Amino acid sequence: MILLKIKYRLLLFLKLFIFQIGLGKYLLRNRYRERIIVFHGIDKTGETKYNSRFVSEKYFTQFIDFISKNYNIISLQDFYDKKFKPNTLNIAITFDDGYANNFKYAIPILEKYSIPATFFITTIQDNNTNFLWPDFLDLVSFYSNQNSIIFENQHYSKNHKGEFIYNGISLKNRCKKLSWKEIQPLLNIFKDEWKIIQQQPLNDYWELMNYNQIKEVAKKPLFKIGSHGYTHANLNSITFEEATLEVLKGKKVLESICEKPILDFAFPFGSYNSELINYSEKIGFKRILLVDYNTENEKNNPLLRNRFVINPHINFKMQLVYLLKGKYL
Ligand SMILES: [Zn+2]
Repeated sequence: MILLKIKYRLLLFLKLFIFQIGLGKYLLRNRYRERIIVFHGIDKTGETKYNSRFVSEKYFTQFIDFISKNYNIISLQDFYDKKFKPNTLNIAITFDDGYANNFKYAIPILEKYSIPATFFITTIQDNNTNFLWPDFLDLVSFYSNQNSIIFENQHYSKNHKGEFIYNGISLKNRCKKLSWKEIQPLLNIFKDEWKIIQQQPLNDYWELMNYNQIKEVAKKPLFKIGSHGYTHANLNSITFEEATLEVLKGKKVLESICEKPILDFAFPFGSYNSELINYSEKIGFKRILLVDYNTENEKNNPLLRNRFVINPHINFKMQLVYLLKGKYL
């Protein structure tokens, strides 16, 4: 079994080498392959101690440089229209969460290479908030000196990894089951930590694009704005009524900011169900992005596509190997 695994990995490295010496087109001859890639944040150094959502500006540049030279990169809309080139890997690029660092680091690089991308963003700014709760929680947990906190009348204790745990469940996993309104008491519990964090040069790890930046991105012909829900709630964990409001408000607020129809939607946390897909279609989304399909049957739904999430813990070469393979396992 181990030998088989080594053999398989060697084969993937050999394939990558063939691409690096410019002969990749022969490898993909008579084959169509497609991937939609998801990035989250870009920072200066690729810091992963707060979370696993950021790659460095250098890594991103190297990645874009390689894929633009070796593969065919198209817009998400062309991807859905199957405007694929034969004998190559056809790639569409997406970003989730709408970080200001996308505007600062990714957009200039994408423009330099003329690479199209779709940015899936929330409109939590509508609630006078310019960050998403997972980033808030990751940062305050990392910097907090509190050994325990009380949330929802439960005593959460900090473990050696810096996570707050109650009864074997992390605060983060608990929050994935809650609406933004229910999560808000945490802003008060960690207000001192958050004040300190905001005084430090940590903006790249939490700050979202403001409305002017979103508007500016929407105006650029190379880029599209898609919705990522209203407050990044896990739509499978709240009531259907709450979930439909999240989907609808996310769309409407973005449309008023961008002054154009918003037709692309990506489920927060990749979490969805068939009723929510029907609802998203009903209110006018033309392209609905997932991470993984829930069922095999959904692969036949022309609105849906799965995506390949870039993992910052994996080095550049291995990332390309997995990209060719289309999955990490
Ligand atoms: Zn997200």
